[in-house]
Amino acid sequence: MEKWIAALRSQGYKVTPQRRVVIEALKQGDKFATAQQVLEAVRQRFPEMSLDTVYRNLSLLVELGLVHEVRTKGRDGNFFEIAVTGHHHHTVCLQCGKAECLDFCPIHEQDLARAEVGGFKITAHSLEFYGYCADCRKVG
Ligand SMILES: [Zn+2]
Ligand SMILES: [Zn+2]
Ligand SMILES: [Zn+2]
Repeated sequence: MEKWIAALRSQGYKVTPQRRVVIEALKQGDKFATAQQVLEAVRQRFPEMSLDTVYRNLSLLVELGLVHEVRTKGRDGNFFEIAVTGHHHHTVCLQCGKAECLDFCPIHEQDLARAEVGGFKITAHSLEFYGYCADCRKVG
């Protein structure tokens, strides 16, 4: 928890009880949580907290690199994952929505350099791999 508090403070953000409880909800739940799942956990302590507030706090944490956002294509919206490991990517099943972490980044320095056209400077990137998991690929 101290790591998150220090990171928020060093960027000039207050560690509000709402922010703290959003982080706690992510740490205690399953590996991936939707904003709705975070809201349900958070409402046990802040019954009046809105989904909008959860989204705003999650966006800030994603911006600060404390939380990873996985863009799913499902109806339940994106997954959020506490950033215990460094930069990495995910596979997302288009059938069942299951996400898995990849422990590497397939983007190479030279690819990034090629993308920096017209003086553009890349500071971050995100990338998801969509397809079908082993269970969903089984026929019958
Ligand atoms: Zn699947
Ligand atoms: Zn991950
Ligand atoms: Zn990467």
